[in-house]
Amino acid sequence: SDSHFPIPISPSHLDFSLHFPKFFGANNEEVSKKAEFADIGCGFGGLLISLATLFPDTLMIGMELRDKVTEYVKERILALRKSSSGGQYEKVSVVRTNSMKYIPNYFEKGQLSKMFFLFPDPHFKEKNHRRRVISVDLLDEYAYVLRAGGIIYTITDVEELGEWMRSCLEKHPMFESLTQDELDSDPVVELLCSATEEGQKVARNGGQTFRAVFRRIAYVS
Ligand code: SAM
Repeated sequence: SDSHFPIPISPSHLDFSLHFPKFFGANNEEVSKKAEFADIGCGFGGLLISLATLFPDTLMIGMELRDKVTEYVKERILALRKSSSGGQYEKVSVVRTNSMKYIPNYFEKGQLSKMFFLFPDPHFKEKNHRRRVISVDLLDEYAYVLRAGGIIYTITDVEELGEWMRSCLEKHPMFESLTQDELDSDPVVELLCSATEEGQKVARNGGQTFRAVFRRIAYVS
């Protein structure tokens, strides 16, 4: 249950020296930076690892509910930090948490420029739809932590869930769909299928995927 992992009471209570020791440790000069990308339900961390080399200057964090999976991602990142000389994995980390409950404990208003929801659990039964990580209510929270212009990336191999995620985003007043040109010119889009463990599994099995990528718009006055 949630009592087994510590939750920061606010984003400023998240101990960055644990996650990014190279930048926030006791002997280092503190850089006034915050995580800008969040991979929600990051699983085994493949996306973060790929993003780390694509965006070497960006702090990013994965959120994962399962204890053992989170520990695996931590070890994976530590091993990469040791074996690579370029320092490109120093800005990637993971927290064990329930993202459906605690997003505002981790991120301030407008802190994030990208949020990822890749191959989330489908929760097929109608009575379990409230457990889905994308819903119109949760999009309020995601709109709060995303800055204007920030992007939310979703993908699934479950058609019904894909339609659900797209329709929640279309219904929400703070999000608009990216155009085809924008999708084509965003290098992150192709990673949605290729970088995560779940995406690779779907690709190996020749499965179809359903993607919805939306921008957090500025407030309209
Ligand atoms: N995104 C990864 C990928 O594409 O390979 C993992 C996909 S996996 C099917 C869904 C992941 O979301 C699981 O690792 C699960 O433990 C995690 N998850 C489910 N609910 C969660 C929640 N409320 N908070 C954080 N993680 C959650």
